[in-house]
Amino acid sequence: MATDRPEGQSTRIIHNRHHRDAFGSPYSPIYNTTTYRFPDTEAQLDVIEARKPGYLYTRWGTNPTIQELEQGLAALEQAESGLAFASGMAAISATILAHGQRGVVCVGDIYGGTQELLANHCLPLGIPVTFLLQTDAGALEASLTRPDMLVFCETPANPTLAIADLRTMARITHGKGALLAVDNTFASPINQRPLTLGADLVVHSATKYLGGHSDLTAGALMSSAPLSEAVAPWRKNLGQLLSPETAALLSRSLRTLPVRIRQHNENAMTVAQALDGYPGVTRVLYPGLPSFPGHQLAVEQMSGFGGMMTIEITGGGGTATAVADNLKIFLLATSLGGVESLVSQPSVTSHHDIGKEEREKRGISDGMLRLSIGLEDPSDLIADMQQAIDRATANSILPR
Ligand SMILES: *Cc1c(COP(=O)(O)O)cnc(C)c1O
Repeated sequence: MATDRPEGQSTRIIHNRHHRDAFGSPYSPIYNTTTYRFPDTEAQLDVIEARKPGYLYTRWGTNPTIQELEQGLAALEQAESGLAFASGMAAISATILAHGQRGVVCVGDIYGGTQELLANHCLPLGIPVTFLLQTDAGALEASLTRPDMLVFCETPANPTLAIADLRTMARITHGKGALLAVDNTFASPINQRPLTLGADLVVHSATKYLGGHSDLTAGALMSSAPLSEAVAPWRKNLGQLLSPETAALLSRSLRTLPVRIRQHNENAMTVAQALDGYPGVTRVLYPGLPSFPGHQLAVEQMSGFGGMMTIEITGGGGTATAVADNLKIFLLATSLGGVESLVSQPSVTSHHDIGKEEREKRGISDGMLRLSIGLEDPSDLIADMQQAIDRATANSILPR
């Protein structure tokens, strides 16, 4: 590059020319190879003893295709280092095992898999785990009872889209000598960069927005080099690396991430505004709506409001189920972040197993539908949602 002028996020993502190949390919070919040949033992020892850079064995993370992906992942979150994983849960579990051994404090609602990992696997291993449903500063401060603990949170959180104040959490966490890890899957690095707000580690289910087409499973961790170097041996020895083919597919997806996210943001805002106040809809939880409880905080720490929203259907669980079943364009499916719009009812899917009482504590009602707004024409999404709501509420005695 001819100038020292800092490049924008989209330029950095597209011109991530880590790899330069002999034939002029702008991107790394897929190196499916698992091992690498050396001219002699001395050259091999130079790499093993880290005197020279080189590739040894793909499961260890030394693979050109995977490393090119990791450069892109780091650039996205303005991180020093990126590690790619076989799934979001692989990234989360390795991060927790590497940095959470002296205790984990989970703030707010978290992904079901993370909840299971902490409750069913970390606790029996002797790792102290605290689940804090309140996101207030005082409760967090009081729960950080030992040095070197790990605070883990998601914002926006599933499915209420609750916003946690990352700057405040980072200040309290660091004041107690702990690290802050943020699952940034819902926002994506285009809408929110937690490391710039004070977080220490960012994890992603790359299966969602980073992949963006519902056709790959992968995960990512972005952080400083020392923090990621502590996680890499866990990834290596738990065998959590993704395949080079998946890495290449994910690298390709990252190049269109900024433009996809901008469109997800725009479509979701259009759908949220159309459903807000629509007969049969009690409320729309979307961070971009001024009526949303966390709107001001979202404005302060996010640069876009994302593609996720939750609507509450008048009449409760049965009516919400009827709406979901009446939809023609939205797919009734779990997951999120793809080009196609998805609908799921948290009380019968992601939050089914915790029971009604626990759901109520978290502000999750049976009438809620979580929407992942895709890249279809928003007018079609609105028409689909409205016809499904109209049909489901047609028998209602309430005036519409
Ligand atoms: C899907 C998801 C995960 C888990 O990711 P996988 O790729 O399915 O392992 C973690 N966190 C959040 C917020 C998610 O949505």
